[in-house]
Amino acid sequence: MAAETPFSHQTRAAALSSMAAEPVDLLVIGGGITGAGIARDAALRGFRVALVEKGDFGSGTSSHSSRLIHGGIRYLEHRDFRLVFEASRERRVLLRIAPHLVRPLPFLFPVYRGARVPAWKLRAGMWLYDALAAFRNVKTHRWLSPKQVRRAEPALKDRGLTGAALYWDAQTDDARLVLATMRSAARAGALVANYAEVTSLLKPDGRVRGAVVRDVLSGETRTVRALIVVNAGGPWVDALRRMDDPAAPPLLRPTKGAHVAVPRRRIGNERAITLFSAIDGRVMFVLPWGELSYIGTTDTDADASPDAVRVTADDVTYLLRSANAAFPDAHLAANDVVSVWVGLRPLLGQDPAAAPSQVSREHRVVESAQGLITIAGGKLTTYRVMARDVADRVAARLHELDGRPTAPRPPTDRLPLPGGEAAELDVLVEGARARGVPEATARHLVASYGSETPAILNLVDRDRALGNPIVPGRPEIWAQVAHAVEREMALRIQDVLVRRLHLFYEYAEQATALVTPVAQRMKKLLGWDEVREAEELVDYFRLVERARMFRTELKI
Ligand SMILES: Cc1cc2nc3c(=O)[nH]c(=O)nc-3n(C[C@H](O)[C@H](O)[C@H](O)COP(=O)(O)OP(=O)(O)OC[C@H]3O[C@@H](n4cnc5c(N)ncnc54)[C@H](O)[C@@H]3O)c2cc1C
Repeated sequence: MAAETPFSHQTRAAALSSMAAEPVDLLVIGGGITGAGIARDAALRGFRVALVEKGDFGSGTSSHSSRLIHGGIRYLEHRDFRLVFEASRERRVLLRIAPHLVRPLPFLFPVYRGARVPAWKLRAGMWLYDALAAFRNVKTHRWLSPKQVRRAEPALKDRGLTGAALYWDAQTDDARLVLATMRSAARAGALVANYAEVTSLLKPDGRVRGAVVRDVLSGETRTVRALIVVNAGGPWVDALRRMDDPAAPPLLRPTKGAHVAVPRRRIGNERAITLFSAIDGRVMFVLPWGELSYIGTTDTDADASPDAVRVTADDVTYLLRSANAAFPDAHLAANDVVSVWVGLRPLLGQDPAAAPSQVSREHRVVESAQGLITIAGGKLTTYRVMARDVADRVAARLHELDGRPTAPRPPTDRLPLPGGEAAELDVLVEGARARGVPEATARHLVASYGSETPAILNLVDRDRALGNPIVPGRPEIWAQVAHAVEREMALRIQDVLVRRLHLFYEYAEQATALVTPVAQRMKKLLGWDEVREAEELVDYFRLVERARMFRTELKI
């Protein structure tokens, strides 16, 4: 059964051996959403594809986003209509091919007297937003009177309120979207490996013809030969370009974006809120996520390398003050922060005079004189289009190289991602309920695994203990840990707690209380010795420490 296809440490070992044994048509460097999309598209065209990722899949920018699949209401201000049109179309596609992971979300955008953008302008913008989605957004927007706004969002600031737009976008689980895309690529035949880092490029005759790949977990090094190499390194693309040409000028102007998550009841928002920060007038969001709300994002020029970026006290202060101004009774303080995350936007560097939030979100495919293809810029929302553009370029180059016919573009806009096969999520929830699963767990499983939910429940049938909650009172169950290891290529504690289950962000103290029991399970499943287990624990606590450094700065 396709739903139970293994995607484990063994799949990874076989992929690494195979890509070293025989040359591939295409080697993709980087396993974020862009690389995953390229591997999927290219493998579906019938190319022999390998993808290597130096960390876990999605561990770069792609799991540190605002989790929105959106047209991008704020790009209207910059008259980036083409981008909004494209992103709106992609929102529709992703709602269709991954309905469990990309979910419609209503937004309220309140307007106040004297605001930077007056009500008439916002109203016009809303019509334009719907028009650029060809009036095929989840629903068209509505305009609410102040009274209706008060009823809908009683905790919002009331003074000077003149109304609000109620409009629709979508929210996703970014880390799981990468994983689903990566598994789809692997199903189409791509050889993919996490914790496999490119340390140098092979240039036997001056052309880029592969890479040296280091297994980050074992230290073993392999050579992967490839007809074409694509650099999908997100904020690392310039570092990878310098492996090809030490004098390569930077393509990017990365900007840093931080988020903080707090208990939703502390803010009191019912739905997603779009607002202008009272501090600097930037567009920001307060977004619901179960019992939490997350506030984001900052947009500042990057002050650290992508490997060293972290949330600072200044980031937290800015976000909390902006939210407090919009929700006067919230009185959020740093102590309320449950978790934080930060990423660097791999944005194209164009106008050095532009403010960080005005840097374009467009993407560009660049080819070096030595043949390295780099994709830079873009958004989570538009990854499929970016991937298609790169795969088109790869197809053309392969045709030039060996005369092979150019395969037609695969229908990546119609092929569901794993778990996206059944559109009726409520039916899946009912199916899980019928197997004795409590309502909250059934909903949680369907939101994570969609039509693959029965595969998780089959594990419980084989071992009833796997049906037990990981934390009493929370919906996650132990079967998800086994599933993460056996079918989602989780190799490390952080892969499970941060990106597969998100307990790092959602459970108290970055889920440190769960580290030991999770390590014990993983030890059995992956055959770790004591040393490896200890290393895993140390690394997890290092991650926790980094995420909590802002607390030390604020002396809390
Ligand atoms: C704060 C923030 C909020 C955002 N919010 C949204 C949003 O709501 N909606 C939206 O559409 N977009 C959003 N974006 C943009 C979006 O997240 C990014 O455009 C997208 O995730 C970039 O994906 P990527 O695959 O190009 O880069 P990444 O996800 O960073 O992937 C690149 C990968 O390359 C790997 N790599 C680097 N060097 C090597 C090497 N030598 N060998 C092997 N692997 C290597 C890295 O480990 C990394 O995983 C946001 C971005 C940020 C920072």
